[in-house]
Amino acid sequence: GLKGTVSALWHSESVQAIESGVPLVGIFGGTFDPIHNGHLRVAEEIAETIGLRELRFVPAGIPRLRHAPAASLQHRAAIVGLAIRGNSRFVLDEREVRRHGVSYSVESLRELRREMGECVILCFIIGADAFMKLADWHSWRELFGLCHFIIVARPGYALASNRYALPQELEDECAQRWASSADSLKYTPSGLVFIAPTTLLDISATSIRAHIAAGKSVRYLMPDAAIDYIAANHLYSGGG
Ligand code: ATP
Repeated sequence: GLKGTVSALWHSESVQAIESGVPLVGIFGGTFDPIHNGHLRVAEEIAETIGLRELRFVPAGIPRLRHAPAASLQHRAAIVGLAIRGNSRFVLDEREVRRHGVSYSVESLRELRREMGECVILCFIIGADAFMKLADWHSWRELFGLCHFIIVARPGYALASNRYALPQELEDECAQRWASSADSLKYTPSGLVFIAPTTLLDISATSIRAHIAAGKSVRYLMPDAAIDYIAANHLYSGGG
């Protein structure tokens, strides 16, 4: 009857309100030493599947858990800026450049949450290789109260086909958090873990640095403008 119709209408309207009103914002943190087409293609596909309003690339300062980057943070951020130019959804977020010192993702996410408010849906994009080590991150459990995790597969990492390969404490933390569809991410601002289907591209910054140091071409592995900047500034050439 009428009651059913009204409640169905009300329901579809509120779903629409959620879909159009609450923005989804992607956060892609990384050393980006340098950024490459593996990062960029994954970002583009996720922005499309999840329906991100914007995707912020956050180059990290001094990583606590890995070797020092080969290029300075200023250079790495400049390369990201050139690489994403022309994509209206992609934004360079330089908060870790301004902060100096060791980078903690939790600090950047706390800041973003404060700036953007409680309702915004924050989606942190992370490669399967990096997600496996999440329990080593500073205040890692707090992250689930700040953002969703969007995990992307990388060639050679089993996670996407076998989520149970996670370390035990991470597996336990995630047990009730697995999202079965991209759609379910829209109904809560944080706390879910979603394995995003993306094209597997076996490109790494390590292999790019090795190519450049050997004087080999990296064309088609990263955008031309980024390659030109690296050449003009003699980065990764092995000469310092
Ligand atoms: P390096 O080779 O120096 O370790 P990297 O290529 O892994 O660098 P990072 O800047 O460390 O690049 O990566 C930032 C994030 O992007 C990480 O979560 C990483 O897992 C992910 N990532 C990097 N390359 C790819 C790729 N080809 N496909 C999917 N995810 C990727």
